[in-house]
Amino acid sequence: MKELLEYQNIDGQLKQIENEIVATDEFKKYRSAKSFLSNVEETLKKIDARAGEIITLLNNAKQQYAEIDARLEEYIGLADKSENLEETSYLKKKADQLRKSVDNLDKLIAQLQKEMKEVAATFDELGKRVPIAKKQYTENKAMVDNLKKEREGQVRKLKAELEKLEKNIDPKMLAYYNKLKQENVKKVVVPLLDGSRCGGCNMEMPLGAMSKLNATGVIICDNCRRIIYNARED
Ligand SMILES: [Zn+2]
Repeated sequence: MKELLEYQNIDGQLKQIENEIVATDEFKKYRSAKSFLSNVEETLKKIDARAGEIITLLNNAKQQYAEIDARLEEYIGLADKSENLEETSYLKKKADQLRKSVDNLDKLIAQLQKEMKEVAATFDELGKRVPIAKKQYTENKAMVDNLKKEREGQVRKLKAELEKLEKNIDPKMLAYYNKLKQENVKKVVVPLLDGSRCGGCNMEMPLGAMSKLNATGVIICDNCRRIIYNARED
């Protein structure tokens, strides 16, 4: 038990060093530049693809517009020339329908042109940010590497201590410890509190668990799954 506690203590020191590095401005800038750069290419590709789609849609709409507009002219001309009232009325009705289609296409074209402008602006904006992010990434990565280097000796020493301790810890117990740690359980090994409560979650231990703790010196909390030891006996 003593070894496992010591293991947890050193493990915590290693985690602390990691946390200190992660908490620096340099690391935050490095991480944000890295994430921007890893996403930007995909985003630029998507924007480029959308721009291509818009161009196709615009060309289609413009072509349709020209065709309908020509037909509209034709109907208007025919209506002007016609002397048959019924025919004139029919042609005018047709012309009205075509005018509506032309209006709709007009709106669609305006909308597509507006989207195109926005897409182009986003593309430019992102493109401009890429070299800035690259610079930020390189500079801050160098600083983060330096920070890591400064702590390297300390980290190596702590890791060596962990390795030494590992040999004296029951492998099953160690595996269990690492499993919980990976699940982000804070402080896996905890003392028994007030003679009967879990030092992790404060849950009162049932009698059966208590007698097992007294017999073996260690139990697993049913509630939070932490390893509980009896501090008085340690
Ligand atoms: Zn518990």
